[in-house]
Amino acid sequence: MQKFDYDVLIIGSGPGGCEAAFTAAQAGKKTAIIERKPHLGGVSLQTGTIPSKALREAAYLRSRFAAKGMRSAAFRDPSVNNHVFLTEAIQTKNTIVEKQESMLLSELMKYGISIIPGEANFADEHTVKVYPENGKETVISAEYIILATGSRPRRPAEIPFDKEVILDSTSLLKIQRLPESMIVIGGGVIACELATMFAMLGVKIRIIDSHSQLLAYLDEDIIRNLMNHMEDMDIKIHLSENLISVRRNGNTVTAVTDKETYESAALLHAMGRQPNTEKLNLSALKDIVLDNYGYIPVNENFQTAVPHIYTVGDLAGKPSLAATAMKQGRHAVSHAFQLSTAHQKIQVPMAIYTIPELSYAGSTEKELQDKNINYVSGTGEYSRTARGQIIGSNRGMLKMLADKKSKKILGIHIIGENASELIHTGLIALHFESTVQDLAGMIYNYPTLAECYRTAALECMRKCEQ
Ligand SMILES: Cc1cc2nc3c(=O)[nH]c(=O)nc-3n(C[C@H](O)[C@H](O)[C@H](O)COP(=O)(O)OP(=O)(O)OC[C@H]3O[C@@H](n4cnc5c(N)ncnc54)[C@H](O)[C@@H]3O)c2cc1C
Repeated sequence: MQKFDYDVLIIGSGPGGCEAAFTAAQAGKKTAIIERKPHLGGVSLQTGTIPSKALREAAYLRSRFAAKGMRSAAFRDPSVNNHVFLTEAIQTKNTIVEKQESMLLSELMKYGISIIPGEANFADEHTVKVYPENGKETVISAEYIILATGSRPRRPAEIPFDKEVILDSTSLLKIQRLPESMIVIGGGVIACELATMFAMLGVKIRIIDSHSQLLAYLDEDIIRNLMNHMEDMDIKIHLSENLISVRRNGNTVTAVTDKETYESAALLHAMGRQPNTEKLNLSALKDIVLDNYGYIPVNENFQTAVPHIYTVGDLAGKPSLAATAMKQGRHAVSHAFQLSTAHQKIQVPMAIYTIPELSYAGSTEKELQDKNINYVSGTGEYSRTARGQIIGSNRGMLKMLADKKSKKILGIHIIGENASELIHTGLIALHFESTVQDLAGMIYNYPTLAECYRTAALECMRKCEQ
């Protein structure tokens, strides 16, 4: 039998790679992670999820000043301006990232996972070469290889990115001073999250997107609600408008579209991500052919066309979330070693950390209509709960969709404070195929926003009886 240096070799230390490593090491497999950056944790920890959510917290607290609930009175301090807020928020963000990275490192060490610094590329189907920044190339072999090299912001050659005025999401999250105004090109999750976050910090935001609707796959009531919030924040939205050119003029930027010319103090280009495949020398693996968007095709177990090579996380394409990358990492290793934790079909929750945040699981009304499913809907409004009034949330809502005949929950959609946490009750209901009676019959803590589940479930029950 062929001898390898490792049972599992993982390329990339983002959430997909790290979870794969933990799963393999816990199963007693000799495991190593190769990482080309000086810091561990990938986009999730270093430049994306955690930095954006840490900064969002500052913007979110700022948004609470405008709310009519009791917290606004406790927090209001006019002496704190937005720039001071940003400076403090950046310090806090850096501390959180450092703390998370050191926790990650100590976990990796606890499980005896080798960390190999350097950029990896394939020599053959079981062997990779690693090039450390200032060291000698090494050659490492493994029985299984997991590709978790993630993605980076798409940076079209014609956009003159400069990390000061013309930015991508990575450079925006590192700025030290708030621009007075910012054009956001793109209307996807990252664009909308950063747009609302910076709007809350006092930056005048203008979103330009070629589609006819922002986040069009969301439930229509939720999207309408979000658009109303954006309007309140004075965010200008230009839909069905195509970017033609971007030009820097000293300290400002000009964006020309097929309809208008706009000037701004900064521009964020947030039109998609690009998978990190170029440096992997995939040509050494004849069977792996990228799809039309540059992603590595995988089967339901995240196996590539070479069965002992798996691909997880952003490199495998949508949904491109840290949460799903982790699950895929666990799944790939469990499949490789036939661990009992593999192959469980589970519901995927989605959270979008705009201000206000939104979250959903299961189907939208449109999806149910397209499948000709006879459904009912019920709504629980935050403003009708005592907790919602205490926090001053006048627009938050939870919407429930259920099958009219079986009364089983089919979808939960939430917008408002804590949506990303509240969704898990609905997620469990979906997973265990619970009915609206199950959710209506539960006792919820009082006063809480979770009471919205009961209100929505009761409305669904009434409609089921009609
Ligand atoms: C602004 C922003 C906000 C986000 N917010 C959220 C959120 O709120 N929730 C959520 O779930 N997701 C969020 N995401 C998405 C999330 O960050 C990604 O889906 C996740 O990081 C993907 O994980 P991954 O393991 O596939 O790869 P990554 O996290 O991209 O890590 C890949 C790693 O591989 C390394 N690498 C690449 N090539 C090589 C090579 N050849 N050799 C060695 N190492 C290599 C890279 O240096 C990197 O460290 C956000 C993303 C961004 C940009």
